[in-house]
Amino acid sequence: MSDGAARRRDALRAEVAKEQLDAVVVAGAANIRYLTGFTGSAAHLVVAANRVVLVTDFRYASQAPAEVGRDVEVRIERSNLWNGLRQSVGALGIRRLGVDRTRVTLAAWEEFRQLTGVELVPVSGLVERLRVAKDPDEVAAIREAARLAGEALAAVVDFIRPGRTELEVAAELEAALRRRGSEWHPFQSIVAAGPRSALPHARSTDRPIRTGELLVVDFGAQVGGYCSDITRTFVVGGPADQRQRDTYGVVREAQTRARGALRAGLTGREGDSLARDVIARAGMGDAFGHSLGHGLGLEVHEDPRLSQTSEIPLPVGAVVTVEPGVYFEGWGGVRIEDDLVLVDGGAECLSDGRTDLMELT
Ligand code: ZN
Ligand code: ZN
Repeated sequence: MSDGAARRRDALRAEVAKEQLDAVVVAGAANIRYLTGFTGSAAHLVVAANRVVLVTDFRYASQAPAEVGRDVEVRIERSNLWNGLRQSVGALGIRRLGVDRTRVTLAAWEEFRQLTGVELVPVSGLVERLRVAKDPDEVAAIREAARLAGEALAAVVDFIRPGRTELEVAAELEAALRRRGSEWHPFQSIVAAGPRSALPHARSTDRPIRTGELLVVDFGAQVGGYCSDITRTFVVGGPADQRQRDTYGVVREAQTRARGALRAGLTGREGDSLARDVIARAGMGDAFGHSLGHGLGLEVHEDPRLSQTSEIPLPVGAVVTVEPGVYFEGWGGVRIEDDLVLVDGGAECLSDGRTDLMELT
């Protein structure tokens, strides 16, 4: 990791120089892992032209130096990490300090204001923008996380039947994920049946699944810190009825079209429209209330966004989800989500890409 991390820090320094800053304060576990390889949950980082200082606490006193390599100075702070970082910054002799306005708290800002002779400059997205285009190692980790997730779901399909509760299915799935090597669940798994499947971000409950209900399962695996994010929709305990089949068919057509046509150079809005147009033509436009997808990496929701408000062109190397869904209150919902990497001329699916409606009888 450390060679790659050093390259990433150099790329960040180039951005910092463009902003005419002497150094930048970086916060957020994913940003810090990306730049240093540090996997702990509590740390802040300052990246200057010639020095990099990571401030963390006692729990990581041996782990942090082992993970970050020689180029990063580790400071163990016993009371307040921001205070420790302020002292480190004070020793660097810098004049203009970039501070991440989206991740640094007001309390931390107040802390930095105590530095005399240092101008604080709010910045945003410097590291996040670097993270958009993945390198081959990152893509390999997401591919593995997607493969593992597909395997775990296949292993629990037979467990899903009427009478099982949403939580029981979630428990089986999460155990299957971890047994296969998933480090953690990138987000709270969604297992939502019947009318609850109409809630795009439903919490799993102890409600038993009933015969003939739709079941939306949205989950992921994590490998080397990198996330997958997959959704499959089932009909449990019997064949689908006409409305379920028709609704699923529209979402599948939208998802297939987006997967086939998504490529670098499109804006996030154009990517989103690939699926949205299909759903709107079927008269279900109002039922597709979220965006088509999001970037995937060290975080499960990161840039770029495939949304109607994103005018940023997608680069080669971006990994995104494609997850159209439609939701009808009181009836249920359908969503199909796969993970894609943008390559020259198109997109490659990293998950198993299974789009047939699975009727679990
Ligand atoms: Zn998802
Ligand atoms: Zn997603």
